[in-house]
Amino acid sequence: MNYTTIMDDNEVKQNIFKCSRCGLCQGVCPIYEEIKNENSTARGKLMQIWGIKKGDLKLNRKILQSLDLCLNCEKCKLNCPSGVDTTGVFHSEKKLPLSGKILTSDFIFKLKLSSLKFFSFFKKTPQYDKNSKILYFEGCIAKELKNKFEISGIKVKNGNFLCCGMPYLTKGRADIYEKIVEHNERIIDKSEMVIFDCATCLSAVKDYPFKNPKNREKLVFYTDFYKDFNLQFKKNLKVTYHMPCHLKSAGKNLEEIEKILNSIKNVNYTRLENPQNCCGFGGDFFIRHPKIAFSLSIKKGLDIINTKADVVLTSCPTCLWSLNFSLFVCKILYGYKKIPTTLDMSEFLNKCEIITKNLPRSETQKNIEKELVKM
Ligand code: SF4
Ligand code: SF4
Repeated sequence: MNYTTIMDDNEVKQNIFKCSRCGLCQGVCPIYEEIKNENSTARGKLMQIWGIKKGDLKLNRKILQSLDLCLNCEKCKLNCPSGVDTTGVFHSEKKLPLSGKILTSDFIFKLKLSSLKFFSFFKKTPQYDKNSKILYFEGCIAKELKNKFEISGIKVKNGNFLCCGMPYLTKGRADIYEKIVEHNERIIDKSEMVIFDCATCLSAVKDYPFKNPKNREKLVFYTDFYKDFNLQFKKNLKVTYHMPCHLKSAGKNLEEIEKILNSIKNVNYTRLENPQNCCGFGGDFFIRHPKIAFSLSIKKGLDIINTKADVVLTSCPTCLWSLNFSLFVCKILYGYKKIPTTLDMSEFLNKCEIITKNLPRSETQKNIEKELVKM
């Protein structure tokens, strides 16, 4: 497997040659679902890139627009029977004008994040264990909005990582992305384990072209800790779960999440009508293509409301942000009196009481316990 970085021309061509034009990517692309335009699918994008490389097509505004119509959901890549690294090609072929380079600079990204400071007014400053070698990867949005990340009995230290790099990679900013990877790998090198609560961050870091490939094995999703716990919630609660697009590329699946939710005493879990559908946010996609983002967002909001759940959970702060927006808009547009509240799943699990931990333990849990004994 090739791990993500910006491809050279030869690698881009090799990936395009692998495409058999079967069209399976069309059936899974949320953008195609919305606008029914072949040029927006992975196949359509690859063919346009190939046409430009051969000199049959000239890069014009229309082509640039269709190449930009992408949520980076990776559904095409994950479902491609020929193993085409579709999103890798798209990132590598991003041609940004000077204005685009300024807009995707580190300074502008941090400026956008600082707008969240307003919402982080009530956030408590979390205290972590300074001596732990088990690190928490706090994503950029979690840094501003999320309260403390906790798992009962596990001492974690905030790794103080930089951004996972995804926002820069998707804009073709190899210069910034490579510096981030180098910095973050230095921190991972010194750790025993790194825990993630955001599917997007985990999928991005799992794809790093690590100098030491063993570092990839240290990356753990928080749900791994809960597989063998016997949990209960203090009162009856109906919940549903929005599956972030990057959950699969993070190496996790909906069934694993459902198994945990279905096992919690007093929790009644209902699956969404289209659990895999994108929330429409897609980084800054919603700013560039508000009409498509809005439509996806409303569909997601209605699917959630139809479950009649009290709470909708998810594992990505950007999705959480997006779900808040879609539920609020559905309430205004359709006059719903009661809408579900949104909550990060790691926070919800932490609110549950652990009844027992003595069920058969998974390998991950055994490894975690070994690490704790060493400390
Ligand atoms: S699914 Fe893969 S092989 Fe099939 S058309 Fe799409 S990119 Fe090409
Ligand atoms: S990454 Fe998602 S939105 Fe982009 S082309 Fe592939 S399926 Fe479509």
